[in-house]
Amino acid sequence: MMGILVENKEIYEGKLILVNGDFPLRGESISTSLTPVNEKYPQVLLQAEAAQMLGQALRSIKAAECKDVSVSASGCSSKGERTKIQKEGGYFLAYYSPVFSESEQTEMQKKNTVLVSGCCDGREQTNIYKESIALVSGYRSEKEQTDIYESSLKENGAEFTAEFVALPNHSEHQTGLAIDLGLEKENIDFICPDFPYEGICEKFRAAAPQYGFIERYRKGKENITKIAPEPWHFRYVGFPHSAIISENNFALEEYIKYLKQFSANGEHLKYDNGKTHFEIFYVQAEKADITKIMLPYNTDDAVSAYEISGNNVDGFVVTCSLLRQPH
Ligand SMILES: [Zn+2]
Repeated sequence: MMGILVENKEIYEGKLILVNGDFPLRGESISTSLTPVNEKYPQVLLQAEAAQMLGQALRSIKAAECKDVSVSASGCSSKGERTKIQKEGGYFLAYYSPVFSESEQTEMQKKNTVLVSGCCDGREQTNIYKESIALVSGYRSEKEQTDIYESSLKENGAEFTAEFVALPNHSEHQTGLAIDLGLEKENIDFICPDFPYEGICEKFRAAAPQYGFIERYRKGKENITKIAPEPWHFRYVGFPHSAIISENNFALEEYIKYLKQFSANGEHLKYDNGKTHFEIFYVQAEKADITKIMLPYNTDDAVSAYEISGNNVDGFVVTCSLLRQPH
């Protein structure tokens, strides 16, 4: 059993933060790990872990088409996720942002470029590579979101804008965890890119949950998300949350609520993909400035990693990866 002390301002940080009309972005460290997904789109940035996993997801669908090139598609391998625990003044503080060295980042961007340029190994494109996926819009600063919102009001009117463009500080794009993807073609609509439920786009959509991404604004969830269906908008929440969300057809709003029934000392939400056993639970923030989070495991339980994310509402989600089930 280990206790970790987390500052309550951490509620607003992490990959499970819920940002919508009701809950504005309040985190301060969002922009610290922004990195291009690949070299072809130097202006499209995501948080480092999301950028790396998006690159893996895109490579995996190319690899599936390109049989003579082996690309590892290990899915949720948590290689890039390095949870650091630092002892400060006798307290354990948890840091959850993955840290990549500069050379690792460049290497990953180079690799990610391969797939967007079409063919897996750089040979001439053949018919099977006809379609490719463009990175349309990733991280936006508050100012960029304000500019997009205001120009959409002018060009598209209030009704359209309310449906498709979030108010400044209520946009997931400001988290560095969301990306709009488009089917590569001559004129790509910046606000509503074409990302159909077929071809390479549908292949990406099917693979996305294995790499931590969800289609965020699905048809049928408009009453909950307050956003019209956006087949092009993907949000990084990390594996296995992405898999649980899509298997249950949850909106992120529903998932954040659903998690509240699981607690440190009560039942955990369990997920097993054959390789790793995950246990997930929710911890409500304490009224003081600091919340103590108990990890209900013994040191011999082989908890290989744990991550803590704020939910941007009222508490924290703890995700433990175990090499074997606890007793
Ligand atoms: Zn979007």
